[in-house]
Amino acid sequence: MIRKLITRLFSPKAQAKSLGKRVEAAGAGLGIDPARLPNSALTVVRNLQQAGFEAYIVGGAVRDMLLGLKPKDFDVATNATPEQVKPLFRRALLIGRRFRIVHVMFGREVIEVSTFRANPDAQGQAVDGDERSADKLAGRHHAVDAHGRLLRDNVWGSQDEDAARRDFTVNALYYDPTRDVVVDYHHGLRDLKARTLRMIGEPSRRYREDPVRLLRVARFAAKLGFDIAPGTLHPIAAHSELLRNVPSARLFDETIKLLQTGHALASLDNLRRLGLHKGLLPLIDLALSQPRGEAFVMAALGDTDARIGAGKTASPSFLFACLLWPQVGQRWAELQAEGVPQIAALDQAADEVLAAQAERLAIQRRISTDMREIWALQPRLGRRTARYAHAALAHPRFRAAFDFLLLRARTGEAAEELARWWQDFQDADEAGREALLEQAARGADAEAPKKRRRRRRKPAATADAADPAQD
Ligand code: ATP
Ligand code: MG
Repeated sequence: MIRKLITRLFSPKAQAKSLGKRVEAAGAGLGIDPARLPNSALTVVRNLQQAGFEAYIVGGAVRDMLLGLKPKDFDVATNATPEQVKPLFRRALLIGRRFRIVHVMFGREVIEVSTFRANPDAQGQAVDGDERSADKLAGRHHAVDAHGRLLRDNVWGSQDEDAARRDFTVNALYYDPTRDVVVDYHHGLRDLKARTLRMIGEPSRRYREDPVRLLRVARFAAKLGFDIAPGTLHPIAAHSELLRNVPSARLFDETIKLLQTGHALASLDNLRRLGLHKGLLPLIDLALSQPRGEAFVMAALGDTDARIGAGKTASPSFLFACLLWPQVGQRWAELQAEGVPQIAALDQAADEVLAAQAERLAIQRRISTDMREIWALQPRLGRRTARYAHAALAHPRFRAAFDFLLLRARTGEAAEELARWWQDFQDADEAGREALLEQAARGADAEAPKKRRRRRRKPAATADAADPAQD
């Protein structure tokens, strides 16, 4: 039975089917205007072609141009190896190990150039990959783990093989600006028109090869507003556990992409619908299971989408600070109720939550440091004395901490008045700031007796009870 299946999978007929039939379509007829392509991408394609190689713009950029969206960046695919690509450009870097590519730099812009790679199916057809001999010793061309996950992917191949190893049909379109043609092997143009997200090949096997593709379904369905093809959708539930085998640094990268698409809310919604949020961001599960936490996370993601829609950026540290805040806030309140002083309690809450999160999804140290600072500034923004206020304003994380305070105010967790005060304080000149500090001091005096009474009361285990900014 198994042998039959294997024979079927690797028979020349099956291989031809999985590689797809090459179809070319004129770019002009599809609404692509080569004149609107950036010079950087055109230069990379032309240099490669003039050196005698094949070169195409590929993936997200082609898909987005065909949909009339502005591509985020431009990737190029070629039959030149990284070592052949590099000397063709003045500023080019060889990067990656698991997935070796070349970055060609144009000022701050980077064009990613990847060599056509073979599909793990296409046994015996790969050429010139330097992983080849080592993998051959292991009895296969691609190194895989016990679950079938690809560990390396540096086996060079032809364009049809390269197309077959891409994830979705609409992500496997190639555009040659010199001839103005789109090359399609897997009915990507048809799916694009029908607004369908369809995995190339046999979806279960593709999820096993790389479980991150599960998250990519949620991301692209949200970003493009596409339907998920039934065959692509159905195996997801049975494979969601495979995300546990993915190195936490890769999960982090893919989650950041998901949050920064400008469709973070819709992506998170998809993750929940597909049952993929569990275990990925365990602390977000908890946050979303309580109405307060859910309101905060939703407001944060809604803001992020609006910022990105307006052409601004959202830093990963701000995003993750928001996502984990409901847990940190709750733990902070509990620790204070146990008698730990306010600042120490927040520090400890941050430690605990970041440690629990790190087990699944590794947040880079640089980012977790910034997250801590955003959190630590929250109680400090509640202390409106000259010393604290000026120090807070000069803090490199002030802007992010202030945006965070605005979110907390909007979700009823911090006082609107405090958020307004900080807005005024930033806008004011020196005299204005003095006046605001005096006004805050008067307010604090009037509040003082109430504040002492509150202190003695045992705070409830909710974020707002712990919120000193409200006092
Ligand atoms: P975006 O505009 O959001 O960057 P994109 O399609 O460019 O979308 P990337 O993550 O940048 O997405 O990947 C570039 C291309 O590489 C994809 O279009 C796809 O062809 C291929 N690709 C990326 N990740 C995978 C994967 N895990 N499995 C198969 N193919 C992939
Ligand atoms: Mg991309």
